[in-house]
Amino acid sequence: MSHIADNIRYFDEQLKNTPARLVAVTKTHPVETIKEAYDAGHRIFGENKVQELVDKYALLPHDIEWHLIGHLQTNKVKYISDFVDTIQSVDSLKLLMEINRRAEQRNRTTPINCMLQLSIADEETKFGMTYDEAVALLQSDEYRNMHYIRITGVMGIATNTDDQGKLRNEFRQLHSYFEQLKETFFFANPDFKDISMGMTSDWQLALEEGSTMIRVGSGIFGARNYNK
Ligand SMILES: *Cc1c(COP(=O)(O)O)cnc(C)c1O
Repeated sequence: MSHIADNIRYFDEQLKNTPARLVAVTKTHPVETIKEAYDAGHRIFGENKVQELVDKYALLPHDIEWHLIGHLQTNKVKYISDFVDTIQSVDSLKLLMEINRRAEQRNRTTPINCMLQLSIADEETKFGMTYDEAVALLQSDEYRNMHYIRITGVMGIATNTDDQGKLRNEFRQLHSYFEQLKETFFFANPDFKDISMGMTSDWQLALEEGSTMIRVGSGIFGARNYNK
């Protein structure tokens, strides 16, 4: 058995008695590598770039549930709106409107799942909305008239640090945003259920703080080589 299959089994075991699911993050890895995780039974994969996602979608089996987890430019929505399951990186009303518009055009049988990316880290380079911006989005008339998307939760990228206390606070912050949005806008709406947080270095901490979706790349596929 390949070490990738072993890693998939390891995470299956770790998540078995939790509500959390694993998004296997495949960026920079070739399809042969991804296929090893697929053959081990894994079906939820995440990419952070549109072009890479499009290329891999074409080459891999179509029962994969693809998540886009990286920043999405409005003019690129059209390349993935046919097949993407979830866009985790929704960070503006304008982007959400475009996703809805493209999903409508494509006659999809299921809506595109969207997650609101909220900023929890202190680095300015991280995309994501403030809590108030998310509230404004959900209060807008434009949002109320969208029928081809559904909002399934929130996503956050924590600060790149070893400071466990800081990470824990950021995960708690995201969890509390989730609870507040749920109470205000999604009360009794079971679609709004996911908190996507935690990566290779901090997924255990994220689970302790209520993550329902961890995004793990190098912990499954090994280190990334960006120079290939
Ligand atoms: C790359 C990436 C991950 C996975 O990172 P690892 O540290 O390799 O687990 C998770 N989330 C996002 C948004 C990413 O871009």
